[in-house]
Amino acid sequence: MSKALNIALLGNPNTGKTSVFNALTGLSQKVGNYPGITVEKKEGICKLDRTTKGHVLDLPGTYSLNASSMDESVVIELLLNRNSKDFPDVAVVVTDVENLKRNLLLFTQVKDLGIPTLLVINMADQMKRKGITLDIALLEEALDTKIAVVSTREKKGLEELKKMIIDYRQLSTAATISINTIDEAYFQNLEKIFPNQSLYKLWLVITQDVNFAKLDRKRVSDATDFKTASPSNLKRLQQKETVKRYQFINQVLKQGLNIDRAAATDLRSRFDRVLIHKFWGYVIFFVILMTIFQSIFSWSSIPQDFIDSSFASLSQILSEKLPAGVFTDLLTQGIVPGLGGIVIFIPQIAFLFLFISILEETGYMSRVVFLMDRGLRRFGLNGKSVIPLISGTACAIPAVMATRNIENWKERLITILVTPFTTCSARLPVYAILIALVIPEGSLLGLSYKGLMLMFLYLVGFGMALLAAWILSKTLDIQAKSYFIVEMPNYKLPLLKNVGITVWEKTRTFVAEAGKIILAISILLWIMASYGPGKDFNQAEQIVQQDYPELNDTDLEIKTNAYKLEHSYIGILGKTIEPVISPLGYDWKIGIALISSFAAREVFVGTLATIYSVESDSEDTIKNRMASEVRKDGSPLFNLASGISLMLFYAFAMQCMSTLAVVRKETNSWKWPMVQLFGMTLLAYLVAFSTYQILA
Ligand code: GDP
Ligand code: MG
Repeated sequence: MSKALNIALLGNPNTGKTSVFNALTGLSQKVGNYPGITVEKKEGICKLDRTTKGHVLDLPGTYSLNASSMDESVVIELLLNRNSKDFPDVAVVVTDVENLKRNLLLFTQVKDLGIPTLLVINMADQMKRKGITLDIALLEEALDTKIAVVSTREKKGLEELKKMIIDYRQLSTAATISINTIDEAYFQNLEKIFPNQSLYKLWLVITQDVNFAKLDRKRVSDATDFKTASPSNLKRLQQKETVKRYQFINQVLKQGLNIDRAAATDLRSRFDRVLIHKFWGYVIFFVILMTIFQSIFSWSSIPQDFIDSSFASLSQILSEKLPAGVFTDLLTQGIVPGLGGIVIFIPQIAFLFLFISILEETGYMSRVVFLMDRGLRRFGLNGKSVIPLISGTACAIPAVMATRNIENWKERLITILVTPFTTCSARLPVYAILIALVIPEGSLLGLSYKGLMLMFLYLVGFGMALLAAWILSKTLDIQAKSYFIVEMPNYKLPLLKNVGITVWEKTRTFVAEAGKIILAISILLWIMASYGPGKDFNQAEQIVQQDYPELNDTDLEIKTNAYKLEHSYIGILGKTIEPVISPLGYDWKIGIALISSFAAREVFVGTLATIYSVESDSEDTIKNRMASEVRKDGSPLFNLASGISLMLFYAFAMQCMSTLAVVRKETNSWKWPMVQLFGMTLLAYLVAFSTYQILA
């Protein structure tokens, strides 16, 4: 009897390799280990026909030949080693009919090694339910191979597979893509140094070493120009390879695969039909977003009011119980309100991430990514940008960090740059207080003006993010191609534990990251507001008494405090910028708040609280205090024009030191955070200026 044919079963995890293996080999299996490592080796004997036997190897699941794990490297080492006794006469790539696109990547790579390669499309029993039809003749032609449509569950297609294996010599060994088109110069060079060798194989050997961080620099630098062979460059070429392969696969499947979602009958498809519908998908997403924002706004207000009043009474109690002095003042006017200013964000952040993580857990978020990819591409973004953009509604810091899973550098950079335009929770208290102050009661179609204004501000933020992304995609000269496939998980009920962990993590990160800065700034502000240079500040009481001899003690104190503040360090700073900001409708006190906001937006309300509590009694809520602020002519400082101008300023300005720090870290340069700082602030100024000039 002749030597058994070596058959290697390859494929992504869970495509049914082991099921095919079992179907082929039955009970004649042997399970061992690959020498030296703990990866399981399964082999078996298959009777192909009366005279031919196959020696079948069930290889570990792998997504591609650009391996990064031990399991995957077993596969590559076998395919690259013609001398191995297991080297396949024929490779059988098993795919899942539902995930053909992703599964075919590996097929093209294996085939390009010049090994006779057969394609198994498994799980054919699912096709009807999923509304999938295949044009096998066309696919065989396009992929230049033989295809066995198999259902191991229904034991169909296996005999045909065996016949194809026997006839493996008739399989074409031509490559699916020409690897040198990825980078002509690089591969020309490689070819010169290693003539008469398969370029793709050489390429795999090189990248394999890169992936396992054992690139022999000397060997490669001998072989090729060291610069072009640097690991990061190779990684880039590897990505280009993947893009090329997916372009090829896409083209093939466009003709050979048809998914009629309307004909599918399974529950998941029924859901998908609506949730990723070209029209209803967006409507539903929009409604969900709106519900989330309205809920955040109304639900958070209850714990927030409680936090607000708790910290106010804590300050009150402390100032009564502790001996009067600088330390008590620092504690009650600086530290306690500063802490309050951090804690007050917790309800909003917690609610937001509660919703986001529920959307993620149920599998809906992947549909949103899919839905958005179509649209976001037009703006130079990526479907995956939707996660940072939405997370940005809590805080730009985790959002910028969340861009890490966008593979394409240009799209990632653009996402990082525009994310701060989305309305983060630190802007929410600014908006909330200004909306309460200047937007009138009343409603339109059952939605309050106040709620509508808030939604408008969110939309303006998203809109500007998209516009900026579009402009950046047209102007940034960065070469990076990308290919994107969404993995759509099945729908499932959210796991409470996972949701809880996300909410806890995000809240904790916020408190830890932004909290320190808020607290530090609050204390700094208190110091700047409590001290000042020269006799205007230090002899304020005498000066005020001289100017207003008729005042009683209480009024005198208030006047004195106001006078002191005006001549404190912070007052001087605020006044210095007053000429620049008065065309926007702001006075020097708002100027102070703006200055401190450049460190962190959320300080705005706290600053005003500090400023006003220094000059008036502490029981006044900040809102009433702001409402009673008047201009020189007696009209309220916060009116529709100045309020909206201020809100728009906050919508666009880059006022967050922590975000700048994160962007620096993620882009590894000061260039991009500076672009953000100056670009966004200039834009904010211009928009606020025009708004005030038009409305006032
Ligand atoms: P492997 O990871 O590639 O070895 O895949 P397995 O053989 O372990 O199969 C993965 C999953 O797919 C298992 O739950 C199998 O029951 C299922 N499966 C395998 N073949 C078929 C098939 O033809 N039809 C269906 N519906 N499920 C299958
Ligand atoms: Mg298996």
